[in-house]
Amino acid sequence: TQLVNQIAAGEVVERPSSVVKELVENSFDAGARQIRIDIEQGGARLIRVRDDGGGIDKEDLPLALSRHATSKIATLADLEHVASMGFRGEALPSISSVARLTLISRTEGSDCAWRVAADGTERDFDPQPDPHPRGTTVEVRDLFYNTPARRKFLKSEKTEFEHIQTLVERMALSRFDIGFRLTHNQKEILNLKPAETPAEQEKRIAGICGSAFIDNCVKIDFASSGLELTGWVGLPTFSRSQPDMQFFYVNGRLIKDKLVAHAVKQAYQDVLYHGRQPVFVLYLALDPALVDVNAHPAKLEVRFREGRLVHDFLFSALHRSLAEVRP
Ligand code: ADP
Ligand code: MG
Repeated sequence: TQLVNQIAAGEVVERPSSVVKELVENSFDAGARQIRIDIEQGGARLIRVRDDGGGIDKEDLPLALSRHATSKIATLADLEHVASMGFRGEALPSISSVARLTLISRTEGSDCAWRVAADGTERDFDPQPDPHPRGTTVEVRDLFYNTPARRKFLKSEKTEFEHIQTLVERMALSRFDIGFRLTHNQKEILNLKPAETPAEQEKRIAGICGSAFIDNCVKIDFASSGLELTGWVGLPTFSRSQPDMQFFYVNGRLIKDKLVAHAVKQAYQDVLYHGRQPVFVLYLALDPALVDVNAHPAKLEVRFREGRLVHDFLFSALHRSLAEVRP
């Protein structure tokens, strides 16, 4: 099982930011309102994610670290399938096979929290009491300590942390209702309060994209024939034009898609500024039946059932919204 876990980890845990992604998604699933992420040495030494979600019952703690009975990886041949379909129920066991993992959790109404631990070879599934408040903390230390070849592939502390920060920013832009705090080597990097009102949301955008962006942007809010586009597009007066400041979410999920990129760029260049890459944070909401966002969870791919319709909607939504503010 350990070998299978480690091979599975090769698929799910590419680098520290992949661990952060799995842990934060678990916190989302647990209904967290506040997520705190502490990183040391780019995540190689420590990744700690704490939430105030529903928690895990004492008797379920060992289960959370065990490969599920219905494991999708019975044989190596299954790996390919899992790699394309995602790892449901595989993340914590996989991570614990290539790091030292501690899981502490407390559910509502429990007198105290309970702690279990697992690392590459040793599993301590006898829960110990802990003063942790309601919610869950997962602590991942010494990633790849027992797979030196993988550890060697980690980039510099700075680069690995940049991957983590980018990921957290992307996730924070998809869940305004959740507060995020990110530290690196005890230094606070992001502190984003839950943002309910439009003003609070713009504050979060400013915290991530810079206040110059929010001061030089057009707010988009457009709906027609069941599709809805909201968000912000930077004006040409906003001079920072980095390709990584293009955030596009479909039903709350960040995607990268040629058709989308084309429609946005076309409308932007038509109306505002030819020859420049637009900067944007945009949210498309549409009938989930019209889109397959799980085509490849790791690759941000998306498949629209009616590509033409989506393209034309985006183009005309942006064209009209931007034309209203054309200088
Ligand atoms: P999956 O999320 O696909 O079910 P994971 O390995 O990521 O698999 O997590 C295993 C289980 O542990 C989850 O199904 C959930 O029950 C529990 N769990 C993990 N993280 C948390 C958390 N932060 N809060 C509450 N439960 C959690
Ligand atoms: Mg999970």
